[in-house]
Amino acid sequence: MNFIKHVGIFDTTLRDGEQAPGYSLTTEQKVGLAEAAERLGVNTIETGFPASSPKDFEATRQICNVLSRAIPCGFARTVIADIDACAQSMASFANPKIQLASVGSDIHIKYKRGITRQQVLQETVDAIDHAKRVGFKDISLLLEDATRSDFLFMEQLIGAGIEHGITAIVVPDTVGYCLPGEYYALVKDLRDFVGEDIRISAHCHNDLGLAVANSIAGIEAGADEVQATLCGIGERAGNASMEEIVAILCYKGERLHCTHDIVQHRLHETCSLLANYLNLNIPLHKPIVGRNAFSTEAGMHQQGIMKYRFTYEFMRAADFGAESRMIIGRHSGRNILRQRLARAGIREIDYRVLDRVYTAIMSDEQAEKYNDPNLLVEQYKLLELNGISSGVDHVGSNLN
Ligand code: MN
Repeated sequence: MNFIKHVGIFDTTLRDGEQAPGYSLTTEQKVGLAEAAERLGVNTIETGFPASSPKDFEATRQICNVLSRAIPCGFARTVIADIDACAQSMASFANPKIQLASVGSDIHIKYKRGITRQQVLQETVDAIDHAKRVGFKDISLLLEDATRSDFLFMEQLIGAGIEHGITAIVVPDTVGYCLPGEYYALVKDLRDFVGEDIRISAHCHNDLGLAVANSIAGIEAGADEVQATLCGIGERAGNASMEEIVAILCYKGERLHCTHDIVQHRLHETCSLLANYLNLNIPLHKPIVGRNAFSTEAGMHQQGIMKYRFTYEFMRAADFGAESRMIIGRHSGRNILRQRLARAGIREIDYRVLDRVYTAIMSDEQAEKYNDPNLLVEQYKLLELNGISSGVDHVGSNLN
């Protein structure tokens, strides 16, 4: 395979992300995030679930007024009122998308809906017909809980959907149930069934920590689009993290034969905007956006990075609008101290004094404070003077 495939990024931060506990946004914030997502380069923005509340309706209406390049998508169940709410709130946009949530698995059909497969089929085609009637041309059929669904029933549902004019299918791993190999096989089988003219969108949840891995497996199996949220916010353990997927597409794009439209260096500012709005504490170690994602404290690693960055850093923090940092702390070595002191203007560093500084920092509970160059220089000068006045030569090990 040598052609490069474009992968669409479908941002569901404002719908699947926002609907989870603790992530509530004001209408103004939603509009701000939609504008930021458009600047970031996402292809589609799911604006919300307009029938669910006047707030979602209004946010969708306002977002449709401000978008120019990204396509808004409304979420609806296979219910007339839901579709009408999408049509009304999205009326100002020329060709918006609609995502119709149908039910795939018997667990959901039987226990959540309490209906039969036949009824699901009927309400699905009725909904598609209605969506067309009210003007939607770009209609996605989402099969809720697809990864626990009977394939033959999905074929029936999708087949009927295609006959009635859907343009895409969404394959949600609604409860985060799949392994990457399983999700790959499902998307591949669905691709074989729908052919090349129907778009396939991957939608994965992170209950087993596999949302991103499964999304990538979906792309490898032929998905045209991935649905993701900024910082991975979403129900329970969250949705697939957009920034992680984009990083993978950037650094493994050649292997995956993929390209995308995301302006990578805006990822940090866009995720930060969301985090600020939500008062979200992003875990320190979260890939790409965590505070430590591009930080190094261990002396051995710092020494390697100082000699050749690729020893421990294959991604460039700046590519994502982040900063690569080496931290002075209780695990760092003498090399970083030497480098920082030299940068702060100490021309000839006495290794015996450096050794004393190192020992002092190692035993300091607040070693991180020496990341302030003024404090570090102050400490160096103090210990330099101490050494002279006491006449004691504290030469310790010079090993790093
Ligand atoms: Mn979901």
